[in-house]
Amino acid sequence: MISFNIRCSKEHVFEAWFNNSSAYEAQAKAGEIACPICGDTKVEKAPMAPRVNMGKSRAVANKTPSPAMVREFITEMHRHVKENCEDVGDQFAEEARRIHYGESEERGIHGKASDEEVQELVEENIDVLRLPDLPRSDA
Ligand SMILES: [Zn+2]
Repeated sequence: MISFNIRCSKEHVFEAWFNNSSAYEAQAKAGEIACPICGDTKVEKAPMAPRVNMGKSRAVANKTPSPAMVREFITEMHRHVKENCEDVGDQFAEEARRIHYGESEERGIHGKASDEEVQELVEENIDVLRLPDLPRSDA
C-alpha cells in the first residue's frame, strides 16, 4: 500500500491509500477518487505537506523563505519606500536629523547615507532603517 496526498480542483487536500502508484493513476483517470470535502473527482497528487485546516498565510510563515520569496519581499520594500517616502538623495542624514529635531516637516524620507552617518543617527536615537540592496534577479 502506498499513500498519496491528493488535491481536488478546489484545493482541498486529503490522504488516500492505493495498492501502488499505477492504481492511483487508473482510479484518478476513471474519476473514482472523490474529494471527501466537496466530492470533486478532478484530483491530482499534491505536494507531501498536507494543507488541510491551515490558512494560506500560516503555511507561508512556517516555510523557510526561498531566495525568490526574499527577493520579492525586498523588492516590495523598495517599492513601498519609493512610493511613500521622499527621495532626499545624499541629504538623507542631514534631513533625517532636521525632521527628528522638528526643524523640517515630519515625513518619510529615503536616500543615501554612509555607514558613519547612519551610526551617528542611531546614536542620536533617530529612527533609520537600512534597506537591503535589491538582489540581482539572476542571483
Ligand atoms: Zn474538494
